[in-house]
Amino acid sequence: MKFNKIKNHLEKRLVLLETHLNKIDRELSNKVVGDGVEVSANVKVINENVVDKIHNEVRLINLALDQMVEGSYGICRYCGKLIAVEQLERFPYSQQCASCRNH
Ligand SMILES: [Zn+2]
Repeated sequence: MKFNKIKNHLEKRLVLLETHLNKIDRELSNKVVGDGVEVSANVKVINENVVDKIHNEVRLINLALDQMVEGSYGICRYCGKLIAVEQLERFPYSQQCASCRNH
C-alpha cells in the first residue's frame, strides 16, 4: 500500500495512546479505591484534559486509517488534489494541501 509507512506509524501511535489511556484510568480508580479518598479536583481536571486530547488524537488516527481503506487518504478536502507525501509523513492527520492551508 502506498501509505504503509504512515499506516504503521499511526497504528503504533494508536496502541501507545490506548496504553496511556488505560494507565490514566487505572491511576484515577486506584486513588479512589486505594486510599478511600477522592482524587483531588485538580488531578482530575488535568487528567480529563489529557484524556480529551488523547481521545481527539485517537479520533484523527481512526479517521486517517479509515480514509486509507476508502482510498481518500491524502486528498485535500478543499481542492481535491493530492497532498504531498512529505507533508503527510510530517503531519499524518493533514486534511488539506499546503496551498489550501495557506489561504
Ligand atoms: Zn488543497
